[in-house]
Amino acid sequence: MLPFSSTQTKPSPHTPNLYPSSHSISHSLPSPPSTLKLPKTHTHLHPHRLRIRAIDAAQPFDYETRIKTNYHKSNALKIAILGFGNFGQFLAKAFVGQGHTVLAQSRSDYTKAAQSLGVLFYTDPNDLCEQHPEVVILCTSILSSEKVIRSFPFQRLKRNTLFVDVLSVKEFPRDLLLKYLPVEFDILCTHPMFGPESGRNSWANLPFVYDKVRIGNNGFRLNRCEKFLGIFAKEGCRMVEMSCAEHDRHAAGSQFVTHTMGRVLERFNLESSPINTKGYETLLNLVENTSGDSFDLYYGLFMYNKNAMEQLERLDNAFEALKQELFGNLHEVCRKQLFGIVEAAEAPREEPAQPQKLLTVGTQNVHDETPKKGHENGTEQLH
Ligand code: NAP
Repeated sequence: MLPFSSTQTKPSPHTPNLYPSSHSISHSLPSPPSTLKLPKTHTHLHPHRLRIRAIDAAQPFDYETRIKTNYHKSNALKIAILGFGNFGQFLAKAFVGQGHTVLAQSRSDYTKAAQSLGVLFYTDPNDLCEQHPEVVILCTSILSSEKVIRSFPFQRLKRNTLFVDVLSVKEFPRDLLLKYLPVEFDILCTHPMFGPESGRNSWANLPFVYDKVRIGNNGFRLNRCEKFLGIFAKEGCRMVEMSCAEHDRHAAGSQFVTHTMGRVLERFNLESSPINTKGYETLLNLVENTSGDSFDLYYGLFMYNKNAMEQLERLDNAFEALKQELFGNLHEVCRKQLFGIVEAAEAPREEPAQPQKLLTVGTQNVHDETPKKGHENGTEQLH
């Protein structure tokens, strides 16, 4: 222990402040030994005081760390994640990194994975609820979410819990939560529009969509919701407030189409080559980005977004139209080649100035099941 008291004093206006204020901590000391010669200014102003200016000097309290700790404590949330698969673990890592307490529960046992991430894992949802998390995040597959919600022991949670979902469709969980959750619960529907692949290195500028479906109008509830959103803002996400319906409209045209193309190309077995173009690299990346997601997720995007079917049909039509255009052009070329050959073969026996007539006759012969006799239609030379 150090022998001096910890009263802080303002720097004297007479002494130049050599260090930034956070490092300039002064402490009063008991009487200095009479042999100790202090600088004139000090002895003159405070005969019994020493000012500690070196930041590596031993100090009784680390004020900065204490303030930081208190700040983190007051901002830290107790967050429970339901569904600790691919995406649940991905989110947990960032939450823990920001100093929040994270609990998780899932159908499978993820005790080891949770331990390695600094997360408390519960196999029984009742046990998780009894920890009274402030925020509960629904992170199960879209397909299983209704089953999970229906059997969840809400009554064991605090009555003012904030319930958040991160499903990749939004109207469906909004309706589900409004239907099954106790009315005292707050509801925040969100979609972090990135995953373990696309957000592997950073979440900076990646879109985070949210809709405050039901947040109680009091300071505590509003503040808690902002704190939760702040986690994503702090990671640099592009925060987009948008209704669930609007999200689903946009997401069907962008995210669902992206996943569909990724899956089509995956089945097409794209392979890297020594002469990859930039465009081709983009396709390879697309396959890599989408193939890590479960088929349940993709199927959920289709089944639980009412706009997805229309987009799938548009995609199908666009592909057909493109094929038609290609085949139409090909047909023209074939016709020219085919009839051009006939024309060339017949040319020596034909009068030179009648190509159109030959073409017409040729077409007629192709389509006419019972060709007329040469003398009847004046094309005797063809038979
Ligand atoms: P997922 O296949 O959509 O969901 C896997 C999770 O659902 C696992 O935790 C799994 O639990 C749980 N689950 C599946 N069937 C279940 C059932 N019958 N009963 C109870 N739990 C069941 O893959 P995910 O990538 O982890 O996505 C989770 C959620 O996050 C989805 O709603 C998805 O739309 C959303 N999301 C994902 C991404 C992404 O990039 N992956 C991005 C944004 C949002 P067990 O593992 O314990 O079986």
